[in-house]
Amino acid sequence: MPQLKSGIQSLHRQLPLNVPTLLPDECGKGFIGRVFGWNGAVDHLSMDIWRKSGWGRHYSPFEFLIEVTGLPRSTLICEHTHLPYFRFVNKTFAGSSYDCASTDVASCSRLHTLNTPRGNARLCEKCVLKDLSEEGVSYWRRTHQLHGISHCAEHGHPLLTAECNHALLSPPSQFLDSGETRPIAPSILQAAAGPFIKRFVALSAMTLTMKAPRHPAQLSRSLEIRARHHGIRVSPQGRVSNLSDRIIEMAAGPWLDENFPILKNKRPAEFVSAIDGTCISRHVAHHTVSYLLAMAALWDTTDEAMTACFVTEAPGVAGHDAQEELRQQEAAFRLFLKDVGVLRAIKAHNLSKENLSASMQHYLRRAALESK
Ligand SMILES: [Zn+2]
Repeated sequence: MPQLKSGIQSLHRQLPLNVPTLLPDECGKGFIGRVFGWNGAVDHLSMDIWRKSGWGRHYSPFEFLIEVTGLPRSTLICEHTHLPYFRFVNKTFAGSSYDCASTDVASCSRLHTLNTPRGNARLCEKCVLKDLSEEGVSYWRRTHQLHGISHCAEHGHPLLTAECNHALLSPPSQFLDSGETRPIAPSILQAAAGPFIKRFVALSAMTLTMKAPRHPAQLSRSLEIRARHHGIRVSPQGRVSNLSDRIIEMAAGPWLDENFPILKNKRPAEFVSAIDGTCISRHVAHHTVSYLLAMAALWDTTDEAMTACFVTEAPGVAGHDAQEELRQQEAAFRLFLKDVGVLRAIKAHNLSKENLSASMQHYLRRAALESK
């Protein structure tokens, strides 16, 4: 049994916890449900009760996961949460491995609540039967909970949606037994057999293997080059077809309507910022699914897409953008000084410009000390 933090230790003394072993690709929240189940805490099978309980008051579900498993934080993040999917592209933490205790990881609410990309949990009937026969228990897989996924990658079997808001806290076999599942519409399943959606699905699964977020500049530059190669318009204005037109051309139908309603009533050549912006947005990261749609639409295979976007550095991306950002920051700082009248004050009080930087640093240090 791993060492527990004081709050959990006191609870642990009241209720000694049996902790099962995490299974491959198991959702962290689903694992917590199994811990509850193993310890007979059936009354705790809702996150509302979790929040009010002694566990939830001081510890987030993710911290609880760390404490009861004793596994390294990076292992849990990369193998049992959806953080690598949510943080696929991120400007602030680009290149920062999940191994380090970054502020992103410390403060990320999506991680601490162990959120999944979909509202309702999905399961594969064949996986459930296989798990019951091999492991003796059924469990929730991360890959089944990704946005736009309708089939199990292992069995090619259509997924079922559990009809319960807190389904992850109960075993998937329970929903199969009680019949509280909803099938995905046949028209969506049929559409998912197309090559575009297959590429999207494969790329979505690949995000879960990422060890660090990517910078939006790196990805958008590669997308822009590829879009221009296809003769696709990347600027917001114009009448030539753009990326969202190409996506509609390739995937129009029930799958796109269900998963990306934003594209349902789009007019030809209309600029849809959430999708078309992925090619030009160097500083702001869009939602992960927007990049996945763009990559699936612009390359013929997932390997080509991943190589072009992540292995081959687009020319001049990092250096150019870093310099451009510094120029923009300097321009903004000049305007700030004008607004607060610092330059006028320098003249009025006859301050020495040569010593200004050192004086400001000295003042800021004293101000910081006095404010303590
Ligand atoms: Zn399966």
